[in-house]
Amino acid sequence: MKRLIILGSTGSIGTQALDIVRANPDKYTVTALAAGSNAEILEKQAREFDVKTVALFNEKAAADLKVRLADTDVKVLSGESGVCELAASDGDIVLNAIVGIAGLRPTLAAIDNGTTIALANKETLVTGGEIVNRRLVEKGVKLLPVDSEHSAIFQSLQGAPEGSLKKILLTASGGPFFGKTREQLQNVTVKEALNHPNWSMGAKITIDSATLMNKGLEVIEAVHLFGVAASQIEVLVHRQSILHSAVELSDGAVIAQLGTPDMKLPIQYALTYPERDKCFESLDLLKVGTLTFEKPDTDTFRLLPLCVEAINRGGLYPTAINGANEESVKLFLEGKIKFLQIAELNEKAMNACCNKREFTIEDIFAADKAARRVVREAI
Ligand code: NAD
Ligand code: MG
Repeated sequence: MKRLIILGSTGSIGTQALDIVRANPDKYTVTALAAGSNAEILEKQAREFDVKTVALFNEKAAADLKVRLADTDVKVLSGESGVCELAASDGDIVLNAIVGIAGLRPTLAAIDNGTTIALANKETLVTGGEIVNRRLVEKGVKLLPVDSEHSAIFQSLQGAPEGSLKKILLTASGGPFFGKTREQLQNVTVKEALNHPNWSMGAKITIDSATLMNKGLEVIEAVHLFGVAASQIEVLVHRQSILHSAVELSDGAVIAQLGTPDMKLPIQYALTYPERDKCFESLDLLKVGTLTFEKPDTDTFRLLPLCVEAINRGGLYPTAINGANEESVKLFLEGKIKFLQIAELNEKAMNACCNKREFTIEDIFAADKAARRVVREAI
């Protein structure tokens, strides 16, 4: 039995991970669950999976959860420190499916405790990649990617000799606004931006898919996960979301992982690695018929090249563009800014970043805060 700790259990990835547990009651137990503010769902999950510890980031919601669970002996923690304490509790794997930079400290807490990490929270690596990688080596901890593209790259590299990775082919669906001009994007609505053609995901990453920020964040994530330069990563728009990414090895062999667009496979692989487990949905290539690959439109979708610029500049620039993006996406979802303003504000905040070559976790959170302030003050 693998003991799982799930962070972000009420979200899209978190609930799919719990579906995997439900389908395999003989393989997993869930010891702890954490989320942002949904006491009602977390109470239900805590009872269903008979967990020992729960945590909510939101203090008020945590107090409500404590009352709801008063008839049980479930330990209820609160705040960022509570989420980190839970991430460092006893278990075999921590699945980090928190959204945003809020996932960074819990990832570090799990590493410090020596627990294997299944990482969906890409913002952990975008902001803290250098520090996380150093800490993983120091503590001898494994970090397994859950993001579908990075899982595909990781799967494609199984058995590839050390040093043979030449290039990464990172695929992108293109999102709901593929083929649109800036003019056509002027007045797109939140509802249109949330209407992703292939994947059902949380709101923030769905908007990031519409702006191509998600692909930019994934380039940065891949740099940290696979030790390549951004120039070794080619982004390809692949509308069908069947080929989840590929690698080109030194002899020119291109190895890819294909599958239906279903996050359960990459989530499960991170939980069972290096083993393989059951199939949720088999891929029928005859039904798919055609796989296409196109160049991304980086003039219209500026956030992809801006993220590449951020990682090439290094230091705190990726944190700045990420923090600005978290803020501007929130404002867009609240109807306070237009779609195209997301990229404008992110660019402005990135350029305002006070960079440092050597930096600490505190510097990362300060740069995040500063970038968010630039965004809020610009509207
Ligand atoms: P979501 O919005 O559906 O869920 C986010 C979860 O994080 C929720 O449980 C929420 O309560 C929790 N949370 C938010 N703030 C928190 C905080 N401060 N402390 C603790 N918990 C907090 O998001 P999602 O779509 O499941 O995405 C989660 C992460 O996985 C993101 O980083 C995303 O980029 C990545 N990811 C998601 C998908 C997908 O298919 N959904 C695919 C690849 C990568
Ligand atoms: Mg992805």
